[in-house]
Amino acid sequence: MNYEHVFAQAIQSLKDENRYRVFTELGRHAGNFPKATRHLSSGDTQEVTIWCSNDYLGMGQHPDVLTAIKDATDRYGAGAGGTRNISGNTHVICELERELADLHGKESALVFTSGFVSNDATLSTLGKLLPDCVILSDELNHASMIDGVRHSGCEKRIFRHNDARDLEEKLKSIDPSRPKIIAFESVYSMDGDISPIKEFCDLADKYGAMTYLDEVHAVGLYGPRGGGVAEREGLMDRITIMEGTLGKAFGVVGGFITSSRNIVDSIRSYASGFIFTTTLSPIMSAGALASVRHLKKSQLERDQHQERAATLKGLLMDAGLPVLPSVTHIVPVMVYDANLCKQASDMLLEEYGIYLQPINYPTVPRGEERLRITPTPFHDDTMMSELVAALKDVWGRLDLRQAA
Ligand SMILES: *Cc1c(COP(=O)(O)O)cnc(C)c1O
Repeated sequence: MNYEHVFAQAIQSLKDENRYRVFTELGRHAGNFPKATRHLSSGDTQEVTIWCSNDYLGMGQHPDVLTAIKDATDRYGAGAGGTRNISGNTHVICELERELADLHGKESALVFTSGFVSNDATLSTLGKLLPDCVILSDELNHASMIDGVRHSGCEKRIFRHNDARDLEEKLKSIDPSRPKIIAFESVYSMDGDISPIKEFCDLADKYGAMTYLDEVHAVGLYGPRGGGVAEREGLMDRITIMEGTLGKAFGVVGGFITSSRNIVDSIRSYASGFIFTTTLSPIMSAGALASVRHLKKSQLERDQHQERAATLKGLLMDAGLPVLPSVTHIVPVMVYDANLCKQASDMLLEEYGIYLQPINYPTVPRGEERLRITPTPFHDDTMMSELVAALKDVWGRLDLRQAA
C-alpha cells in the first residue's frame, strides 16, 4: 500500500471541494487588540485587523488577567506537574472551580483542558452511567457534543434545530422509564440565534429528562454576572448541567461544567478525558480566574459589546450587504458559495488588511458559506467604516449576492 498516496488523495479531495483549510499566521498585539501582525511565507509581515476572534471582549489582553498570569508564573512556574489524580491538583484550579460553581449558582464545578474536552468527556460519561439512556441532541450542536454523544454509546435522537415541537414528538416516543438527556446550546455561534431554553426545560420536566446546556458562546457575555443566557432568563436552576469555555469571552483557555455535587463528582471520578490528562496550567487557571471574577462585577464590557454588534449590523444593512438579523453579538454575512467565500476572505486579507476567516462546510451546511464577523468593544467606528467599505468593494468585484 502506498500510504503517502492515501493522504495526498485525502487532502486533494478537500481542495477539490474548496474546503481545504488554510490558517493565517498571526501575532496578536497585547494592548492593541484587535490589531495583529501577519507573517507571510516570504518572511514579510503585514499589519491586519482581526474581525473573527472569539476573544469577544478582548479579555485576552485585560490588565487584571495579564497581571494574574504574570504573578502565577512567578509563584507556581509553568505547568501543573501532572493529572489531577497524580500531583496536578492546584489551589488555583480549586479556587477557579468554586468561582465557576458560584457563577452558575450550582453546588460544584469541574475544569477541563478545553471546552471541547468538557463536552466530550461529560456527555460520554453521563451516557455510560445512566443505564439504557437516550440522548436527544439538537441537529446543529457543536462537534464536541456530537463526539460526546457518540462516545457514550447511547441511543441518540436528533431533533430539529431549536424546535420544541419536534423535541416533544421525540420525547413522547421514548419509553417513559428510560433515562433521557436533552443536549443543546444557548447561543448557536454560526447563525447567532438562541434556543428556547424555558420551553426545553418545561419539556424536560414533563418527560422526566435531564438538561445539558452548552453556554460556550454566552458565558461572560450574557446575564448580570456573565453566567450566560440561562442566567439572563432566570433559568439556571432548571438546567441540570451547564457547560462553558474559558477560551472565548474569558479570553484564556480551558473548559468547565457546573452541576450538583453528585453529578460533578461522578464526572470527576469516571470521565477519562478528565482523569488521564495533565491539568490545565496554574498560570492559565489564574488568568481565567481573574477574568471570571472581573466579568462577574463589570457590566461595561457586555454593554459595549452589544452596542458594537448592533452598530455594525446597522451599518452592514445600510450598505445592502446580506447580514443575518441575529439576536446576538454574532454578525454573519452570507456568501452562499464555498469558492467565492474563500476568494472574498483572501481579498480582504491581502488587499485590505482585514482578517475574516471563511466559514465553509462542515462548520455550516453547503450553500450557506459565510463570513462570520465578531465585533468587540475594541472595534471602533473608524475600523467599522473601513470594514464596511472593503466589504462593499469586494461584493462588487466578485459580484456577490446583495441583501434580499
Ligand atoms: C468552541 C466551542 C466549544 C469548544 O470550546 P473550546 O474551549 O474552544 O474547546 C464547545 N462548544 C461550542 C458550541 C463551541 O463553539
